[in-house]
Amino acid sequence: MDQNYNWKNIRTLLTEGFTAEELRRFCFDEGNFRAVYNKLTQDTGKDKIIDLLLDYANQKLQTEILLIWAKEHNPIRYEKYQPYYDITINPTISTDVNRKPQKTVFISYGHEDVEAARRLYQELKAEKGIEPWFDKENLLPGMKWEPAIRKAIREADFFIVLLSKNSTSRKGYINSELHTALEILKQFPDDQIYLIPIRLDECEIHIEDLRDIQHVDFFPDWKKGLERIRVVIKSRIPIEKPEGEKMETNSSGLGYHYRVGIVDLDIGLTNLFQLAQRLNTIQNYFHFTCPTLPSITNAVREIEGQRNLDVHQVPDNFYEEHQYLSVDLIACLTKYPLAFRENGKLLSNYFSGPGEKDDRFMFISTHLLYELIRLAGCTFEKGIIYIIISQLVVYFTDWGYHDATLGCVMDFCENRWDMVEGLKSMRFCDGCKVMIQNPDLEKALNRMLLDDMRL
Ligand SMILES: [Zn+2]
Repeated sequence: MDQNYNWKNIRTLLTEGFTAEELRRFCFDEGNFRAVYNKLTQDTGKDKIIDLLLDYANQKLQTEILLIWAKEHNPIRYEKYQPYYDITINPTISTDVNRKPQKTVFISYGHEDVEAARRLYQELKAEKGIEPWFDKENLLPGMKWEPAIRKAIREADFFIVLLSKNSTSRKGYINSELHTALEILKQFPDDQIYLIPIRLDECEIHIEDLRDIQHVDFFPDWKKGLERIRVVIKSRIPIEKPEGEKMETNSSGLGYHYRVGIVDLDIGLTNLFQLAQRLNTIQNYFHFTCPTLPSITNAVREIEGQRNLDVHQVPDNFYEEHQYLSVDLIACLTKYPLAFRENGKLLSNYFSGPGEKDDRFMFISTHLLYELIRLAGCTFEKGIIYIIISQLVVYFTDWGYHDATLGCVMDFCENRWDMVEGLKSMRFCDGCKVMIQNPDLEKALNRMLLDDMRL
């Protein structure tokens, strides 16, 4: 695959720039793409047409023809969704697929094996340079799951399928994911490893196409199996540059695991930089910086008599800025309460939540925070940290907010004033403590909670 192409942008260009009918006509008119046209039926939807087009263009090296046509017929969208990576803007993006700092691993499983999938996800996630994809973690509320899964499979460097007596005895969705993966596998040279079947028990591998592929047994010894997977995945990870890359080893007490940007969307807070510095001196799991992002005041609107930042209205180009920021996560502070869409419903007046299109963006509201911290007797910065920490927990663990107000960082606080309890005690409740299973992460979070943040 030619990594000069920004496939995500090309997909968006085709999705937003053309109707299904126009795409069909292109396939028909352009002789090179007639093979795609022949695969289309009356019922083939636009997403599927685009899938077929991109697969074919990539496989037959016809992407240029597709792009020339797209540019000619919709120059505005073409300009907006640059189909090539601009190497001059971001020199870390290389043209060599093997130089990507992260290897993404799609985990496919039958629902009976969800616990094994979750365990594998957590163990891979803890590995430097491996970014696993697990639907329970990576599918955001409101996302269309089918296209999202297809996209994740297509963009993954490895596809792992978990097989067990339970899952192989049932016909189900696992087969549809596998089907996509097997299609992609055909595009790779024979010696390139992409699809890895994992056996969780002594099950028969009944899927014809999988029989030829070397599988790995995760029984009787899970650890040994994991180690084999790890080596295979890492053998394709390039040697990192000495600085600037995510997830430096922390066991020696040096370096950090993740870079977190703190951005003030309203540009009203003056001491964020000192705040970031302070956080960096008290813990080294995260490295905090203060990048800048474009204004998104257009997304502010009145909901039930109150102005909210409607996260659903945050434009794509805001999220696209991520690639230029040299951070892993971004905490976006705003003075407005937040509104989100969940299953088509509009929920407003929230403290925090992840970006609907990219959960590496954490939206954090400071609405009423001055009043809340005054009642709790802590500093404003401390209040900000408190909300950021709950979002970090949501991002890095399986855990989320709880309805009960326990004076815990993870209190949901349907009534905003309940947050005073948590701000006063600055701790995790016993239930939440055990959910943070990463001791380094736990240590860092506690250090941030315990610091008084008087800057
Ligand atoms: Zn709790």
